[in-house]
Amino acid sequence: MPHVITQSCCGDGSCVYACPVNCIHPSPDEPGFGTAEMLHIDPDACVDCGACVTACPVGAIVADTRLTAAQLPFVDINAAYYPPRPDGAKVPPTTKLAPVLPAPRPERGGLTVAVVGSGPAGMYAADELLTQARVRVNVFDALPTPYGLVRSGVAPDHPRTKAITGLFDRMSRRDGFRFYLNVTVGQHISHEELLEHHHAVLYAVGAAHERRLDVEGMHLPGAGSATEFVAWINGHPGAAALPVDLNHPTAVVIGNGNVALDVARILTAEPERLAATDISDAALAALRMSAVREVVVAARRGPAESAFTLPELIGLTTSSHVVLDEADRALVHADLLAAKDPVTRAKLEVLAALPSVDTGADADAAAEPDRRRIRLAYRLTPARILGTDRTEGMQFTRGEQTVHLDAGLVLTSIGYCGRPVAGLPFDDAAGVVPNADGRVIDPATGRPVAGAYVAGWIKRGPTGFIGTNKSCAMKTVAALVDDFNDGRLVDPVRRTALLDKLIRVRQPDLIDAAGWRAIDDAERSRGAGEGRPRAKFTTVADLVAAARTGRSARRGGGLMGGGLMGGGLIGGGHMDRIASWISS
Ligand code: NAP
Repeated sequence: MPHVITQSCCGDGSCVYACPVNCIHPSPDEPGFGTAEMLHIDPDACVDCGACVTACPVGAIVADTRLTAAQLPFVDINAAYYPPRPDGAKVPPTTKLAPVLPAPRPERGGLTVAVVGSGPAGMYAADELLTQARVRVNVFDALPTPYGLVRSGVAPDHPRTKAITGLFDRMSRRDGFRFYLNVTVGQHISHEELLEHHHAVLYAVGAAHERRLDVEGMHLPGAGSATEFVAWINGHPGAAALPVDLNHPTAVVIGNGNVALDVARILTAEPERLAATDISDAALAALRMSAVREVVVAARRGPAESAFTLPELIGLTTSSHVVLDEADRALVHADLLAAKDPVTRAKLEVLAALPSVDTGADADAAAEPDRRRIRLAYRLTPARILGTDRTEGMQFTRGEQTVHLDAGLVLTSIGYCGRPVAGLPFDDAAGVVPNADGRVIDPATGRPVAGAYVAGWIKRGPTGFIGTNKSCAMKTVAALVDDFNDGRLVDPVRRTALLDKLIRVRQPDLIDAAGWRAIDDAERSRGAGEGRPRAKFTTVADLVAAARTGRSARRGGGLMGGGLMGGGLIGGGHMDRIASWISS
Protein backbone atom coordinates (compact mmCIF):
# COMPACT_ATOMS: atom_id res chain seq x y z
CA MET A 1 0.00 0.00 0.00
CA PRO A 2 1.81 3.14 -1.09
CA HIS A 3 0.33 5.88 1.11
CA VAL A 4 -1.62 5.88 4.36
CA ILE A 5 -3.66 8.57 6.12
CA THR A 6 -2.84 8.66 9.83
CA GLN A 7 -4.09 10.09 13.11
CA SER A 8 -3.76 13.80 12.45
CA CYS A 9 -6.11 13.78 9.41
CA CYS A 10 -7.86 17.16 9.49
CA GLY A 11 -10.46 16.17 6.91
CA ASP A 12 -10.24 19.38 4.89
CA GLY A 13 -10.17 17.37 1.67
CA SER A 14 -7.12 19.10 0.15
CA CYS A 15 -5.70 15.64 -0.60
CA VAL A 16 -8.90 14.63 -2.40
CA TYR A 17 -8.54 17.48 -4.88
CA ALA A 18 -4.81 16.84 -5.33
CA CYS A 19 -5.16 13.10 -6.03
CA PRO A 20 -5.02 12.40 -9.78
CA VAL A 21 -6.74 9.01 -9.52
CA ASN A 22 -9.49 9.89 -7.05
CA CYS A 23 -8.43 7.26 -4.53
CA ILE A 24 -9.21 9.21 -1.34
CA HIS A 25 -12.68 8.91 0.17
CA PRO A 26 -15.13 10.00 1.31
CA SER A 27 -14.68 13.05 -0.90
CA PRO A 28 -16.50 16.29 0.00
CA ASP A 29 -19.27 15.51 -2.51
CA GLU A 30 -19.96 12.04 -1.06
CA PRO A 31 -22.61 11.43 1.60
CA GLY A 32 -20.28 10.11 4.32
CA PHE A 33 -17.98 13.13 4.26
CA GLY A 34 -19.74 15.05 7.03
CA THR A 35 -19.65 12.17 9.50
CA ALA A 36 -16.45 10.27 8.62
CA GLU A 37 -13.86 10.19 11.42
CA MET A 38 -11.06 10.60 8.84
CA LEU A 39 -10.37 10.20 5.12
CA HIS A 40 -8.98 6.94 3.67
CA ILE A 41 -6.65 6.06 0.80
CA ASP A 42 -7.75 3.12 -1.32
CA PRO A 43 -4.75 0.76 -1.24
CA ASP A 44 -5.60 -0.76 -4.64
CA ALA A 45 -6.11 2.50 -6.48
CA CYS A 46 -3.25 4.62 -5.04
CA VAL A 47 -0.53 5.17 -7.67
CA ASP A 48 2.04 6.34 -5.15
CA CYS A 49 2.51 9.76 -6.77
CA GLY A 50 2.74 11.63 -3.45
CA ALA A 51 0.52 14.52 -4.61
CA CYS A 52 -1.64 14.06 -1.51
CA VAL A 53 1.41 14.27 0.77
CA THR A 54 2.23 17.70 -0.62
CA ALA A 55 -1.39 18.86 -0.39
CA CYS A 56 -2.04 17.68 3.19
CA PRO A 57 -1.73 20.71 5.51
CA VAL A 58 -1.05 18.65 8.65
CA GLY A 59 1.46 16.01 7.50
CA ALA A 60 -1.04 13.20 8.06
CA ILE A 61 -0.18 11.20 4.90
CA VAL A 62 2.80 8.89 5.09
CA ALA A 63 4.33 6.43 2.62
CA ASP A 64 3.77 2.92 3.91
CA THR A 65 7.52 2.34 4.13
CA ARG A 66 7.88 5.25 6.54
CA LEU A 67 5.15 4.50 9.04
CA THR A 68 6.12 4.49 12.71
CA ALA A 69 5.00 1.60 14.91
CA ALA A 70 2.24 3.83 16.32
CA GLN A 71 0.98 4.54 12.79
CA LEU A 72 0.83 0.91 11.63
CA PRO A 73 -2.82 0.35 12.67
CA PHE A 74 -3.79 2.99 10.09
CA VAL A 75 -2.85 0.64 7.21
CA ASP A 76 -5.85 -1.53 8.07
CA ILE A 77 -8.07 1.44 8.91
CA ASN A 78 -7.49 2.94 5.44
CA ALA A 79 -8.02 -0.37 3.66
CA ALA A 80 -11.07 -1.37 5.70
CA TYR A 81 -13.00 1.62 4.37
CA TYR A 82 -13.12 -0.01 0.92
CA PRO A 83 -15.30 -3.05 0.31
CA PRO A 84 -13.53 -6.28 -0.67
CA ARG A 85 -13.24 -6.67 -4.46
CA PRO A 86 -12.04 -9.40 -6.81
CA ASP A 87 -8.25 -9.40 -7.16
CA GLY A 88 -6.96 -6.56 -9.26
CA ALA A 89 -10.31 -4.81 -9.63
CA LYS A 90 -10.11 -1.05 -9.27
CA VAL A 91 -12.73 1.10 -7.63
CA PRO A 92 -14.71 2.82 -10.36
CA PRO A 93 -14.00 6.53 -10.34
CA THR A 94 -16.71 8.49 -8.57
CA THR A 95 -17.53 12.11 -9.20
CA LYS A 96 -15.07 14.50 -7.66
CA LEU A 97 -16.42 17.97 -7.76
CA ALA A 98 -13.76 20.62 -7.98
CA PRO A 99 -14.64 23.42 -5.58
CA VAL A 100 -16.80 25.68 -7.70
CA LEU A 101 -17.28 29.17 -6.42
CA PRO A 102 -19.40 31.47 -8.52
CA ALA A 103 -17.12 34.34 -9.54
CA PRO A 104 -18.29 37.80 -8.56
CA ARG A 105 -19.60 39.45 -11.75
CA PRO A 106 -17.28 42.19 -13.02
CA GLU A 107 -20.19 44.55 -13.66
CA ARG A 108 -21.01 44.46 -9.92
CA GLY A 109 -17.61 45.94 -8.97
CA GLY A 110 -15.40 44.54 -6.20
CA LEU A 111 -16.74 42.51 -3.29
CA THR A 112 -15.73 43.42 0.29
CA VAL A 113 -16.47 41.05 3.16
CA ALA A 114 -15.87 41.24 6.93
CA VAL A 115 -15.11 37.87 8.50
CA VAL A 116 -15.56 37.81 12.29
CA GLY A 117 -13.41 35.13 13.90
CA SER A 118 -10.03 33.94 12.64
CA GLY A 119 -10.35 30.24 13.52
CA PRO A 120 -10.42 27.56 10.80
CA ALA A 121 -13.93 28.43 9.54
CA GLY A 122 -13.06 32.12 9.20
CA MET A 123 -9.73 31.42 7.53
CA TYR A 124 -11.16 28.87 5.06
CA ALA A 125 -13.97 31.33 4.22
CA ALA A 126 -11.49 34.17 3.62
CA ASP A 127 -9.32 31.91 1.48
CA GLU A 128 -12.30 30.74 -0.57
CA LEU A 129 -13.41 34.34 -1.18
CA LEU A 130 -9.91 35.35 -2.22
CA THR A 131 -9.73 32.69 -4.92
CA GLN A 132 -11.51 35.36 -7.00
CA ALA A 133 -10.21 38.65 -8.34
CA ARG A 134 -11.35 41.99 -6.93
CA VAL A 135 -12.36 40.60 -3.54
CA ARG A 136 -11.22 42.14 -0.24
CA VAL A 137 -11.58 40.36 3.08
CA ASN A 138 -11.06 41.93 6.51
CA VAL A 139 -10.73 39.32 9.27
CA PHE A 140 -11.51 40.43 12.84
CA ASP A 141 -10.61 38.65 16.07
CA ALA A 142 -11.01 39.71 19.70
CA LEU A 143 -7.68 38.13 20.63
CA PRO A 144 -4.33 39.65 19.67
CA THR A 145 -3.50 36.29 17.99
CA PRO A 146 -5.37 34.53 15.18
CA TYR A 147 -6.52 30.94 14.44
CA GLY A 148 -9.03 30.38 17.27
CA LEU A 149 -9.11 26.86 18.66
CA VAL A 150 -6.07 25.79 16.62
CA ARG A 151 -4.02 27.97 18.97
CA SER A 152 -6.25 27.75 22.05
CA GLY A 153 -7.97 24.37 21.77
CA VAL A 154 -5.79 21.79 19.99
CA ALA A 155 -3.70 19.95 22.59
CA PRO A 156 -0.05 21.08 22.67
CA ASP A 157 1.18 17.51 22.18
CA HIS A 158 -0.60 17.39 18.79
CA PRO A 159 1.90 19.53 16.84
CA ARG A 160 0.92 18.03 13.49
CA THR A 161 -2.63 19.25 13.93
CA LYS A 162 -1.34 22.68 14.89
CA ALA A 163 0.78 22.68 11.71
CA ILE A 164 -2.33 23.82 9.85
CA THR A 165 -1.40 27.33 11.00
CA GLY A 166 1.26 27.25 8.25
CA LEU A 167 -1.57 27.03 5.71
CA PHE A 168 -3.47 29.83 7.47
CA ASP A 169 -0.33 32.02 7.48
CA ARG A 170 -0.08 31.53 3.70
CA MET A 171 -3.75 32.46 3.33
CA SER A 172 -3.19 35.65 5.32
CA ARG A 173 -0.53 36.74 2.82
CA ARG A 174 -2.96 36.73 -0.12
CA ASP A 175 -3.68 40.02 -1.83
CA GLY A 176 -6.85 41.53 -0.46
CA PHE A 177 -6.53 39.91 3.02
CA ARG A 178 -6.31 42.07 6.16
CA PHE A 179 -6.21 41.15 9.85
CA TYR A 180 -7.90 43.32 12.50
CA LEU A 181 -6.76 41.50 15.65
CA ASN A 182 -7.40 42.58 19.23
CA VAL A 183 -10.69 44.04 17.99
CA THR A 184 -13.98 42.92 19.49
CA VAL A 185 -16.97 43.17 17.18
CA GLY A 186 -19.83 44.42 19.34
CA GLN A 187 -17.44 46.49 21.47
CA HIS A 188 -15.00 48.30 19.19
CA ILE A 189 -17.27 48.18 16.14
CA SER A 190 -20.90 47.17 15.67
CA HIS A 191 -22.50 44.87 13.10
CA GLU A 192 -24.21 47.87 11.50
CA GLU A 193 -20.92 49.74 11.22
CA LEU A 194 -19.28 46.70 9.62
CA LEU A 195 -22.07 46.65 7.04
CA GLU A 196 -21.40 50.32 6.24
CA HIS A 197 -17.87 49.30 5.16
CA HIS A 198 -18.56 45.85 3.64
CA HIS A 199 -21.10 44.10 1.43
CA ALA A 200 -21.49 41.33 3.98
CA VAL A 201 -20.43 40.16 7.44
CA LEU A 202 -19.61 36.47 7.79
CA TYR A 203 -19.55 35.28 11.42
CA ALA A 204 -17.22 32.38 12.14
CA VAL A 205 -17.18 32.90 15.90
CA GLY A 206 -17.27 29.24 16.88
CA ALA A 207 -19.06 27.62 19.78
CA ALA A 208 -16.27 27.47 22.28
CA HIS A 209 -18.29 27.87 25.48
CA GLU A 210 -18.50 24.72 27.53
CA ARG A 211 -21.83 22.98 27.92
CA ARG A 212 -22.54 23.14 31.63
CA LEU A 213 -23.28 20.06 33.69
CA ASP A 214 -26.22 20.78 35.94
CA VAL A 215 -25.24 18.86 39.10
CA GLU A 216 -24.69 19.86 42.72
CA GLY A 217 -21.15 20.91 43.64
CA MET A 218 -20.04 22.40 40.32
CA HIS A 219 -19.15 25.62 42.20
CA LEU A 220 -16.55 23.89 44.40
CA PRO A 221 -12.84 24.58 43.92
CA GLY A 222 -11.42 21.62 42.03
CA ALA A 223 -14.48 21.37 39.76
CA GLY A 224 -14.26 22.94 36.32
CA SER A 225 -14.53 22.29 32.64
CA ALA A 226 -12.27 20.77 30.02
CA THR A 227 -12.68 24.03 28.08
CA GLU A 228 -11.01 25.97 30.88
CA PHE A 229 -8.30 23.35 31.29
CA VAL A 230 -7.52 23.27 27.56
CA ALA A 231 -7.39 27.09 27.43
CA TRP A 232 -4.99 27.00 30.41
CA ILE A 233 -2.56 24.50 28.90
CA ASN A 234 -2.63 26.46 25.65
CA GLY A 235 -1.75 29.77 27.32
CA HIS A 236 -5.00 31.54 26.45
CA PRO A 237 -4.76 35.06 27.94
CA GLY A 238 -8.08 34.62 29.75
CA ALA A 239 -6.94 31.40 31.41
CA ALA A 240 -3.28 31.98 32.19
CA ALA A 241 -3.91 32.32 35.92
CA LEU A 242 -6.44 29.51 36.25
CA PRO A 243 -6.05 27.79 39.65
CA VAL A 244 -5.79 24.09 38.67
CA ASP A 245 -5.31 21.90 41.72
CA LEU A 246 -3.28 18.79 40.92
CA ASN A 247 -2.61 17.71 44.51
CA HIS A 248 -4.86 14.63 44.60
CA PRO A 249 -3.89 11.28 43.02
CA THR A 250 -7.17 10.92 41.10
CA ALA A 251 -8.84 13.20 38.57
CA VAL A 252 -12.19 12.54 36.89
CA VAL A 253 -13.16 13.68 33.40
CA ILE A 254 -16.88 13.49 32.62
CA GLY A 255 -17.71 12.62 29.01
CA ASN A 256 -15.53 10.62 26.62
CA GLY A 257 -15.23 12.67 23.43
CA ASN A 258 -11.89 13.60 21.87
CA VAL A 259 -11.56 16.60 24.20
CA ALA A 260 -11.83 14.29 27.23
CA LEU A 261 -9.04 12.13 25.75
CA ASP A 262 -6.89 15.25 25.19
CA VAL A 263 -7.34 16.28 28.83
CA ALA A 264 -6.66 12.79 30.20
CA ARG A 265 -3.56 12.41 28.00
CA ILE A 266 -2.09 15.74 29.11
CA LEU A 267 -2.81 15.06 32.79
CA THR A 268 -0.97 11.73 32.62
CA ALA A 269 1.84 12.66 30.21
CA GLU A 270 5.48 12.69 31.18
CA PRO A 271 6.17 16.39 31.88
CA GLU A 272 9.46 16.16 29.99
CA ARG A 273 7.55 15.14 26.86
CA LEU A 274 5.29 18.17 27.27
CA ALA A 275 8.34 20.37 27.79
CA ALA A 276 9.10 19.94 24.08
CA THR A 277 5.70 21.39 23.08
CA ASP A 278 4.20 24.88 23.09
CA ILE A 279 2.30 24.22 26.35
CA SER A 280 2.06 27.29 28.59
CA ASP A 281 4.90 27.72 31.07
CA ALA A 282 2.45 27.95 33.99
CA ALA A 283 0.71 24.70 33.03
CA LEU A 284 4.02 22.90 32.51
CA ALA A 285 5.27 24.01 35.94
CA ALA A 286 2.03 22.80 37.57
CA LEU A 287 2.11 19.46 35.72
CA ARG A 288 5.72 18.91 36.78
CA MET A 289 4.54 19.07 40.42
CA SER A 290 1.35 17.09 39.80
CA ALA A 291 0.29 14.35 42.22
CA VAL A 292 -2.24 12.93 39.74
CA ARG A 293 -1.65 9.19 39.13
CA GLU A 294 -4.95 8.15 37.58
CA VAL A 295 -7.48 9.93 35.38
CA VAL A 296 -10.89 8.27 35.13
CA VAL A 297 -12.69 9.14 31.89
CA ALA A 298 -16.34 8.53 32.78
CA ALA A 299 -18.93 7.99 30.04
CA ARG A 300 -22.64 7.81 30.82
CA ARG A 301 -23.34 5.26 28.09
CA GLY A 302 -21.63 2.04 27.03
CA PRO A 303 -18.43 1.30 25.08
CA ALA A 304 -20.20 1.07 21.70
CA GLU A 305 -21.44 4.64 22.18
CA SER A 306 -17.99 6.06 22.98
CA ALA A 307 -17.80 9.59 21.59
CA PHE A 308 -14.06 9.54 20.85
CA THR A 309 -12.96 8.72 17.32
CA LEU A 310 -10.97 5.63 16.32
CA PRO A 311 -7.83 7.56 15.28
CA GLU A 312 -7.74 9.40 18.62
CA LEU A 313 -8.32 6.17 20.59
CA ILE A 314 -5.43 4.52 18.76
CA GLY A 315 -3.28 7.59 19.36
CA LEU A 316 -4.14 7.48 23.07
CA THR A 317 -3.31 3.81 23.48
CA THR A 318 0.08 4.30 21.85
CA SER A 319 1.00 7.42 23.85
CA SER A 320 -0.50 6.62 27.25
CA HIS A 321 -1.12 3.79 29.68
CA VAL A 322 -4.85 3.09 29.27
CA VAL A 323 -6.75 0.50 31.30
CA LEU A 324 -10.25 -0.89 31.88
CA ASP A 325 -11.75 -2.53 34.92
CA GLU A 326 -13.35 -5.96 34.65
CA ALA A 327 -16.94 -4.72 34.77
CA ASP A 328 -16.25 -2.43 31.82
CA ARG A 329 -14.37 -5.16 29.96
CA ALA A 330 -17.54 -7.28 30.21
CA LEU A 331 -19.50 -4.39 28.67
CA VAL A 332 -16.97 -4.17 25.82
CA HIS A 333 -17.30 -7.89 25.08
CA ALA A 334 -21.09 -7.70 25.17
CA ASP A 335 -21.06 -4.75 22.77
CA LEU A 336 -18.63 -6.53 20.44
CA LEU A 337 -21.11 -9.37 20.00
CA ALA A 338 -23.77 -6.93 18.82
CA ALA A 339 -21.70 -4.34 16.90
CA LYS A 340 -22.13 -4.24 13.12
CA ASP A 341 -20.68 -0.90 12.09
CA PRO A 342 -16.98 -1.48 11.21
CA VAL A 343 -15.70 1.69 12.92
CA THR A 344 -17.54 0.83 16.16
CA ARG A 345 -16.22 -2.74 15.96
CA ALA A 346 -12.69 -1.47 15.46
CA LYS A 347 -13.00 0.80 18.53
CA LEU A 348 -14.34 -2.08 20.62
CA GLU A 349 -11.48 -4.32 19.50
CA VAL A 350 -8.96 -1.72 20.65
CA LEU A 351 -10.80 -1.45 23.99
CA ALA A 352 -10.94 -5.23 24.39
CA ALA A 353 -7.15 -5.41 24.05
CA LEU A 354 -6.52 -2.92 26.90
CA PRO A 355 -4.93 -4.26 30.09
CA SER A 356 -7.09 -4.83 33.11
CA VAL A 357 -6.79 -2.60 36.12
CA ASP A 358 -7.93 -5.11 38.73
CA THR A 359 -6.87 -8.62 37.77
CA GLY A 360 -3.13 -8.23 37.97
CA ALA A 361 -2.99 -8.72 34.20
CA ASP A 362 -1.67 -5.20 33.71
CA ALA A 363 1.93 -6.08 32.88
CA ASP A 364 2.88 -2.44 32.20
CA ALA A 365 1.68 -1.43 35.65
CA ALA A 366 3.65 -4.27 37.21
CA ALA A 367 6.80 -3.13 35.41
CA GLU A 368 6.22 0.56 36.12
CA PRO A 369 4.02 0.88 39.21
CA ASP A 370 4.43 4.65 39.26
CA ARG A 371 3.35 5.20 35.68
CA ARG A 372 0.31 7.43 35.43
CA ARG A 373 -2.70 5.80 33.85
CA ILE A 374 -6.03 6.56 32.24
CA ARG A 375 -9.04 4.41 33.08
CA LEU A 376 -11.88 4.40 30.59
CA ALA A 377 -15.09 3.83 32.55
CA TYR A 378 -18.66 3.29 31.32
CA ARG A 379 -22.29 3.58 32.33
CA LEU A 380 -21.57 6.26 34.93
CA THR A 381 -24.21 8.99 35.02
CA PRO A 382 -22.93 12.03 36.93
CA ALA A 383 -25.05 12.72 40.05
CA ARG A 384 -23.12 15.26 42.16
CA ILE A 385 -19.69 16.51 43.07
CA LEU A 386 -18.75 15.53 46.60
CA GLY A 387 -17.11 17.87 49.11
CA THR A 388 -17.90 20.80 51.36
CA ASP A 389 -15.16 23.40 50.90
CA ARG A 390 -13.56 21.83 47.87
CA THR A 391 -13.94 18.87 45.50
CA GLU A 392 -13.37 15.56 47.27
CA GLY A 393 -14.95 13.16 44.82
CA MET A 394 -17.68 12.39 42.32
CA GLN A 395 -20.90 10.49 42.79
CA PHE A 396 -22.38 8.62 39.84
CA THR A 397 -25.33 6.35 39.34
CA ARG A 398 -24.89 3.08 37.45
CA GLY A 399 -28.36 1.60 36.98
CA GLU A 400 -29.71 1.19 40.53
CA GLN A 401 -26.24 1.50 42.06
CA THR A 402 -24.48 4.56 43.44
CA VAL A 403 -20.78 4.78 42.62
CA HIS A 404 -18.37 7.06 44.52
CA LEU A 405 -14.93 8.01 43.24
CA ASP A 406 -12.46 9.96 45.38
CA ALA A 407 -10.99 12.80 43.30
CA GLY A 408 -9.49 16.22 43.81
CA LEU A 409 -10.19 17.43 40.29
CA VAL A 410 -13.41 16.93 38.30
CA LEU A 411 -13.51 18.31 34.77
CA THR A 412 -16.66 18.21 32.68
CA SER A 413 -16.05 17.54 29.00
CA ILE A 414 -19.56 17.27 27.67
CA GLY A 415 -19.27 19.31 24.51
CA TYR A 416 -19.41 22.94 23.52
CA CYS A 417 -22.21 25.34 22.71
CA GLY A 418 -22.51 28.62 20.87
CA ARG A 419 -23.56 31.96 22.35
CA PRO A 420 -25.84 34.56 20.75
CA VAL A 421 -24.19 37.04 18.42
CA ALA A 422 -25.28 40.65 19.01
CA GLY A 423 -27.81 41.72 16.39
CA LEU A 424 -28.46 38.22 14.98
CA PRO A 425 -31.24 35.73 15.74
CA PHE A 426 -30.24 32.71 17.85
CA ASP A 427 -31.52 29.15 18.27
CA ASP A 428 -31.07 28.55 22.02
CA ALA A 429 -31.88 24.85 21.84
CA ALA A 430 -29.29 24.07 19.16
CA GLY A 431 -26.80 26.75 20.27
CA VAL A 432 -26.38 28.03 16.69
CA VAL A 433 -27.42 31.01 14.58
CA PRO A 434 -30.38 29.84 12.45
CA ASN A 435 -29.27 29.66 8.82
CA ALA A 436 -29.84 28.07 5.45
CA ASP A 437 -26.57 27.13 3.72
CA GLY A 438 -24.86 29.83 5.79
CA ARG A 439 -27.39 32.62 5.09
CA VAL A 440 -28.64 33.84 8.48
CA ILE A 441 -32.41 33.34 8.65
CA ASP A 442 -34.81 35.38 10.77
CA PRO A 443 -37.09 32.72 12.32
CA ALA A 444 -39.90 35.30 12.68
CA THR A 445 -40.16 35.82 8.91
CA GLY A 446 -38.31 32.81 7.53
CA ARG A 447 -36.35 35.24 5.36
CA PRO A 448 -32.57 35.83 5.15
CA VAL A 449 -31.11 38.65 7.24
CA ALA A 450 -29.52 40.85 4.57
CA GLY A 451 -25.73 40.79 4.54
CA ALA A 452 -25.34 38.32 7.46
CA TYR A 453 -23.73 34.89 7.06
CA VAL A 454 -22.29 32.17 9.31
CA ALA A 455 -19.73 29.38 8.94
CA GLY A 456 -18.20 26.76 11.25
CA TRP A 457 -19.50 25.73 14.67
CA ILE A 458 -21.83 28.75 15.06
CA LYS A 459 -23.48 27.57 11.81
CA ARG A 460 -23.64 23.79 12.26
CA GLY A 461 -22.87 23.11 15.96
CA PRO A 462 -19.69 21.83 17.64
CA THR A 463 -18.87 18.77 15.57
CA GLY A 464 -16.21 17.65 13.13
CA PHE A 465 -12.53 18.34 12.68
CA ILE A 466 -10.54 21.38 11.63
CA GLY A 467 -10.85 20.56 7.94
CA THR A 468 -14.60 20.00 8.13
CA ASN A 469 -14.77 23.77 8.22
CA LYS A 470 -13.42 24.02 4.68
CA SER A 471 -16.43 22.52 2.93
CA CYS A 472 -18.72 24.24 5.47
CA ALA A 473 -17.15 27.65 4.69
CA MET A 474 -17.21 26.97 0.93
CA LYS A 475 -20.97 26.49 1.01
CA THR A 476 -21.47 29.75 2.90
CA VAL A 477 -19.17 31.63 0.52
CA ALA A 478 -21.03 30.21 -2.49
CA ALA A 479 -24.32 31.54 -1.05
CA LEU A 480 -22.74 34.93 -0.29
CA VAL A 481 -21.27 35.37 -3.77
CA ASP A 482 -24.56 34.27 -5.32
CA ASP A 483 -26.37 36.96 -3.33
CA PHE A 484 -23.78 39.52 -4.40
CA ASN A 485 -24.12 38.60 -8.07
CA ASP A 486 -27.90 38.75 -7.89
CA GLY A 487 -27.82 42.25 -6.37
CA ARG A 488 -29.13 41.17 -2.96
CA LEU A 489 -26.23 42.81 -1.07
CA VAL A 490 -26.06 46.55 -0.46
CA ASP A 491 -22.88 48.31 -1.61
CA PRO A 492 -20.82 49.70 1.29
CA VAL A 493 -21.40 53.40 1.93
CA ARG A 494 -17.97 54.05 3.44
CA ARG A 495 -14.44 53.46 2.14
CA THR A 496 -12.10 50.87 3.68
CA ALA A 497 -9.56 53.59 4.56
CA LEU A 498 -12.16 55.05 6.92
CA LEU A 499 -12.55 51.66 8.62
CA ASP A 500 -8.89 51.76 9.66
CA LYS A 501 -9.31 55.25 11.08
CA LEU A 502 -12.47 54.36 12.97
CA ILE A 503 -10.98 51.26 14.59
CA ARG A 504 -7.65 52.88 15.35
CA VAL A 505 -9.42 55.56 17.37
CA ARG A 506 -11.45 53.02 19.32
CA GLN A 507 -8.71 50.41 19.71
CA PRO A 508 -5.24 51.94 19.65
CA ASP A 509 -3.73 48.47 20.15
CA LEU A 510 -5.17 47.11 16.94
CA ILE A 511 -2.83 44.40 15.60
CA ASP A 512 -2.48 43.67 11.89
CA ALA A 513 -0.82 40.82 9.97
CA ALA A 514 2.65 42.28 10.48
CA GLY A 515 1.95 42.55 14.20
CA TRP A 516 0.89 38.91 14.34
CA ARG A 517 4.07 37.93 12.47
CA ALA A 518 6.13 39.85 15.02
CA ILE A 519 4.39 37.97 17.85
CA ASP A 520 4.88 34.69 15.99
CA ASP A 521 8.61 35.37 15.41
CA ALA A 522 9.14 36.39 19.03
CA GLU A 523 7.37 33.29 20.38
CA ARG A 524 9.29 31.00 18.06
CA SER A 525 12.64 32.47 18.99
CA ARG A 526 11.80 32.30 22.71
CA GLY A 527 10.96 28.61 22.23
CA ALA A 528 13.94 27.76 20.03
CA GLY A 529 16.42 28.11 22.89
CA GLU A 530 14.48 25.46 24.84
CA GLY A 531 13.92 23.07 21.93
CA ARG A 532 10.23 24.00 21.71
CA PRO A 533 8.22 25.07 18.67
CA ARG A 534 7.31 28.29 20.47
CA ALA A 535 7.06 29.72 23.99
CA LYS A 536 3.76 31.57 24.10
CA PHE A 537 3.05 34.97 25.54
CA THR A 538 0.04 34.47 27.76
CA THR A 539 -1.09 37.99 28.59
CA VAL A 540 -2.60 40.59 26.30
CA ALA A 541 -0.02 43.13 27.52
CA ASP A 542 2.88 40.85 26.49
CA LEU A 543 1.29 40.03 23.14
CA VAL A 544 0.71 43.72 22.40
CA ALA A 545 4.28 44.55 23.45
CA ALA A 546 5.66 41.79 21.17
CA ALA A 547 3.66 43.16 18.23
CA ARG A 548 4.96 46.64 18.99
CA THR A 549 8.57 45.51 19.31
CA GLY A 550 8.32 43.73 16.00
CA ARG A 551 6.87 46.84 14.42
CA SER A 552 9.78 48.94 15.63
CA ALA A 553 12.22 46.33 14.32
CA ARG A 554 10.50 46.14 10.95
CA ARG A 555 9.69 49.86 10.75
CA GLY A 556 6.10 49.60 9.74
CA GLY A 557 3.05 47.42 10.25
CA GLY A 558 2.52 45.61 13.54
CA LEU A 559 0.43 47.68 15.85
CA MET A 560 -1.56 50.29 14.06
CA GLY A 561 -1.34 52.80 16.90
CA GLY A 562 0.21 53.51 20.31
CA GLY A 563 -1.05 53.11 23.87
CA LEU A 564 -1.54 49.93 25.83
CA MET A 565 -4.81 48.28 26.74
CA GLY A 566 -5.99 44.85 27.62
CA GLY A 567 -4.64 44.51 31.16
CA GLY A 568 -8.11 45.23 32.46
CA LEU A 569 -9.56 42.34 30.47
CA ILE A 570 -7.57 39.64 32.25
CA GLY A 571 -7.51 38.49 35.86
CA GLY A 572 -10.50 37.98 38.15
CA GLY A 573 -13.39 35.64 37.25
CA HIS A 574 -12.28 33.82 34.18
CA MET A 575 -14.72 31.55 32.43
CA ASP A 576 -16.98 33.95 30.58
CA ARG A 577 -13.97 35.87 29.45
CA ILE A 578 -12.14 32.77 28.22
CA ALA A 579 -15.20 31.73 26.31
CA SER A 580 -15.93 35.09 24.82
CA TRP A 581 -12.32 35.50 23.84
CA ILE A 582 -12.00 32.07 22.37
CA SER A 583 -15.11 32.45 20.35
CA SER A 584 -14.40 35.63 18.52
P1 NAP B 1 -18.32 15.29 21.98
O1 NAP B 1 -17.53 14.48 21.03
O2 NAP B 1 -19.66 15.75 21.59
O3 NAP B 1 -18.43 14.41 23.34
C1 NAP B 1 -19.23 14.85 24.41
C2 NAP B 1 -19.27 13.79 25.51
O4 NAP B 1 -20.00 14.33 26.59
C3 NAP B 1 -19.97 12.51 25.11
O5 NAP B 1 -19.31 11.42 25.71
C4 NAP B 1 -21.36 12.69 25.71
O6 NAP B 1 -22.01 11.50 26.04
C5 NAP B 1 -21.00 13.40 27.00
N1 NAP B 1 -22.12 14.09 27.61
C6 NAP B 1 -22.93 15.03 27.05
N2 NAP B 1 -23.83 15.46 27.96
C7 NAP B 1 -23.59 14.77 29.11
C8 NAP B 1 -24.16 14.76 30.38
N3 NAP B 1 -25.20 15.57 30.70
N4 NAP B 1 -23.66 13.93 31.32
C9 NAP B 1 -22.63 13.12 31.03
N5 NAP B 1 -22.02 13.07 29.82
C10 NAP B 1 -22.50 13.89 28.88
O7 NAP B 1 -17.58 16.62 22.43
P2 NAP B 1 -16.05 17.03 22.53
O8 NAP B 1 -15.19 15.96 23.10
O9 NAP B 1 -16.11 18.32 23.25
O10 NAP B 1 -15.61 17.29 21.02
C11 NAP B 1 -16.25 18.30 20.21
C12 NAP B 1 -15.84 18.10 18.74
O11 NAP B 1 -14.46 18.43 18.57
C13 NAP B 1 -16.00 16.66 18.27
O12 NAP B 1 -16.45 16.65 16.94
C14 NAP B 1 -14.58 16.14 18.35
O13 NAP B 1 -14.32 15.03 17.51
C15 NAP B 1 -13.79 17.37 17.94
N6 NAP B 1 -12.41 17.25 18.45
C16 NAP B 1 -11.52 16.57 17.71
C17 NAP B 1 -10.24 16.38 18.18
C18 NAP B 1 -9.26 15.60 17.35
O14 NAP B 1 -9.57 15.15 16.28
N7 NAP B 1 -8.07 15.40 17.85
C19 NAP B 1 -9.85 16.88 19.41
C20 NAP B 1 -10.79 17.58 20.16
C21 NAP B 1 -12.08 17.75 19.67
P3 NAP B 1 -23.25 10.97 25.15
O15 NAP B 1 -22.62 10.45 23.89
O16 NAP B 1 -23.84 9.95 26.03
O17 NAP B 1 -24.14 12.16 24.89
